[in-house]
Amino acid sequence: MRWTDFPKWGRYVADWAADYHATLRERPVRAQTKPGDIAAQLPLAAPELAQPMEDVIADFEKIVMPGITHWQHPRFFAYFPSNASPAAVLADYFSTVMAPQCMLWQTSPAATEMETRMMEWLRDALGLPTGFHGVIQDSASGATLAAVLTMREKALGWAGNEDGLSDMPRLRIYASEEVHTSVDRAIWISGIGQNNLVRIPTKGPLRAMDPELFDQAIKADIAAGYKPAGVIACTGGTGTGACDEIAATCAVGKAHGLYVHVDAAWAGSAMLCEEFRALWAGVEHADSIVLNPHKWMGTQFDLSAHFVRAPEDLTRTLAIQPEYLKTHGKDGIINYSEWSVPLGRRFRALKLWFLFRAYGLDGLRGMIRNHVAWSEELCEKLRDTPDFEVITEPVLSLFTFRFAPKGLEDLDDLDDLNLRLVNAINDDGRIYITQTRTQGKLVIRFQAGQWDATREDVMTAYDVICEIAATL
Ligand SMILES: *Cc1c(COP(=O)(O)O)cnc(C)c1O
Repeated sequence: MRWTDFPKWGRYVADWAADYHATLRERPVRAQTKPGDIAAQLPLAAPELAQPMEDVIADFEKIVMPGITHWQHPRFFAYFPSNASPAAVLADYFSTVMAPQCMLWQTSPAATEMETRMMEWLRDALGLPTGFHGVIQDSASGATLAAVLTMREKALGWAGNEDGLSDMPRLRIYASEEVHTSVDRAIWISGIGQNNLVRIPTKGPLRAMDPELFDQAIKADIAAGYKPAGVIACTGGTGTGACDEIAATCAVGKAHGLYVHVDAAWAGSAMLCEEFRALWAGVEHADSIVLNPHKWMGTQFDLSAHFVRAPEDLTRTLAIQPEYLKTHGKDGIINYSEWSVPLGRRFRALKLWFLFRAYGLDGLRGMIRNHVAWSEELCEKLRDTPDFEVITEPVLSLFTFRFAPKGLEDLDDLDDLNLRLVNAINDDGRIYITQTRTQGKLVIRFQAGQWDATREDVMTAYDVICEIAATL
């Protein structure tokens, strides 16, 4: 396969893509394969001789496609959305063809300057103040790791990278139980240690970290000789969409000199709509914020937007050069690889540029508002249906519920019944949902956020859930 063959196969893939999307609703959402089914069809060694592209693509259809869970399926209601908009796919196509490595300004000035401007567009569209500067990270996990490393270095007077942690005061980081596991891993990788991640109990309908208990925990740690370094708050926790009170969390954190990072990986995209911004009120006081346009906005993986108040803190932590001696952004030169853990970076900003231009902010807001409204409508229908109960109320487009037929009181029996319901629904294939645990119960989690979902797709979920529950 040479570049001269590319037009033929490039067109093939373009046609395939349109056909794939046109027929998605006919496919089971979750792959219906057993462990090992795919591996059994793959040879044990790489071929010595070149094979024709016809054969490779035929095997792709035969071996790979049955093992795909269709994240772009309009009835994918599991985990969180992972949207690919056609315009952003085109942008990726262009960027993949050139495959530039955009680690420094000079290794592709367009990528750097586009990234700066796109992060400004996004910042303004989310209603964040101009004091924030953005960088595109590979994942929310990567952004949170960068934020935790920054907390560590700030708290240690920038000595951790040089001296290691052995002779350092023991740092403390605070978060509720509702934050994503990427927080735990950032704590491990940064050398701070799981035992120094202090869990603050939550309160209220949004399961927010209790600011008073947060304050007390910091004071107790200081009295015990620890050094509090930072806090990680969430807007839209992954399990049930928990939202910390960002204003109160920032106020307590700042009073003790803590670095505040807000993880809004999933929910952040909804902040394009002004009416949802109350969920992260006070976010302007944070030091660092991450959200994933690769989840709900339509710029397929990977594209995490990381906004920071003080890029110099991030580069002082992560840049190998003593970049903190320079002024970032002066001379129009920024080397974004110094803002993140990986050195290499793809031209990801192009996806946002295509997305914003092809749909407009208004188009993106319309999609998100629809998802939220349809999800709320489904929640109300389930609430009004005998034998179903809503467990956590919708946070944007995410809520949890469970099947609790009258007469069945035992908690273990109910957990078992709901797990069987989830499995039966996913085996059926018309929709895909997942379970989570909250308040000690196994509950069914529902989120709507698919790029091509319609109201009818969301309402189909109601029919499927009721129909299959009746057979258990
Ligand atoms: C999805 C999610 C993450 C992880 O995102 P990645 O980009 O896959 O690392 C972290 N936090 C929250 C709240 C999430 O929803």
